[in-house]
Amino acid sequence: MRGGRSALGREGRGQGRSYSLFMALLLAACAAAGDRERLRAESDDAYTLAASLVTEVGPRFAGTQGDARAVQWALRTLTGLGFHNVRAEPVAVPRWQRGPIAVELLKPRVRLLEAVALGGSVATPPGGVEARVVMVASVEALEALPDARVQGRIVFINTRMERRRDGSGYGKAVPARRKGPAVAGARGARAVLIRSIGTDLYAHTGTTKYEAGPKVAAAALSGPSADALELAFLAGPVTVRMALAARELPEAQSANVIGEIPGRTGEIVLLGAHLDSWDTTPGANDDAAGVGIVLAAARRVAALGTPRRTIRVVLFANEEFGLHGAKAYAQARAGELERHAAVLEADSGSGVPFRLNAWVGEEHWPAVARMAAELGLETGANGQKGGADVMVLRKLGVPELIVGQDASGYFDVHHTRADTVAALDRAGLDRAAGIFAVLARFASERTEGLGRLPPEPEAP
Ligand code: ZN
Ligand code: ZN
Repeated sequence: MRGGRSALGREGRGQGRSYSLFMALLLAACAAAGDRERLRAESDDAYTLAASLVTEVGPRFAGTQGDARAVQWALRTLTGLGFHNVRAEPVAVPRWQRGPIAVELLKPRVRLLEAVALGGSVATPPGGVEARVVMVASVEALEALPDARVQGRIVFINTRMERRRDGSGYGKAVPARRKGPAVAGARGARAVLIRSIGTDLYAHTGTTKYEAGPKVAAAALSGPSADALELAFLAGPVTVRMALAARELPEAQSANVIGEIPGRTGEIVLLGAHLDSWDTTPGANDDAAGVGIVLAAARRVAALGTPRRTIRVVLFANEEFGLHGAKAYAQARAGELERHAAVLEADSGSGVPFRLNAWVGEEHWPAVARMAAELGLETGANGQKGGADVMVLRKLGVPELIVGQDASGYFDVHHTRADTVAALDRAGLDRAAGIFAVLARFASERTEGLGRLPPEPEAP
């Protein structure tokens, strides 16, 4: 052996070394490719977990008994799956309770309208509200109306949401729900109806935010009922009667449920989803799907052995009605944010992933873009906004990998009673779990991490 090696000569030895290096890199590349194959191997794990949460718990609105059952489900499930350090971190949540609602078109013809109260809505005065209706296409159109056209009226904000693969139609339409009631109340309206922020038949709830001005009751009409109200204007002045009960109860307790796959370093890759849902829906796509995706992804990574960085799954409390779990999580960790090497959040339903965006240090974006290509995803852009629950961390500079899932059908059921197990995309969940697993593994093993972008500026 010794003689043979010396016979190679100086150049030969150099070639030998580069050959070994080449072989080592090739083997590492093959191993990485093999790992990715395993992480993406077909499985029903994400679907099984999502369906379990939906069928065993059902609606789980913050502070309700359903919410408490969801926390128990999560503790049981994470423990059963072999996660370490499984715990519930208490989170105080506001408690809003809806009551009965009745909306009736009185003129130019009589017809019952299907509606749900917006989350956080106040009740109508005793006996309800009966008033002429003024219809506007958007919040901007409402703001442009003279006060005399709004005062004493029920305002109908008839914004139609566009169906888009990336779900961007939601962001464009949602100000009708979030801001519309506050704007109408400040202008002297007596109540507000909006066309549901969705793309199908069902009445959709979601948070509305009041400002300092008068608070007026607000509800969303189902698609067909919004159509009926819109068409009523063709036949003359429109009058509606609306009675809605709702109340605020004392603050209640919920919890973030956390479990880990311990790593070899003190750093953390956080996989997040939210445990709560609206009260009117089993929340299969929003966000039992996300819970299934992150749990399945973490398990798949764990199957490859101890990761470099800890994989921490956080199932956040009360995303829907104020992000209280996300805020509590970040607040409790103000001093250790630098340990968070990356975050990923699954809160876009069960559609097939198609794009990868990021919020990472600029020098790390090319590596993320290469991952997108290897995973067959469209390469998005760096510096993009991602999930709501990890927004607090991202604003403090923690890098995020943002998986864009096909949301074409998501808003057919989002925040409606139709968001049942039947609305889950089983193949989409499997693909998403595989992609989240590969990305979690990438973020966990990448020696140099994903850097930092400057903290995100506050929205104006
Ligand atoms: Zn959600
Ligand atoms: Zn939601």
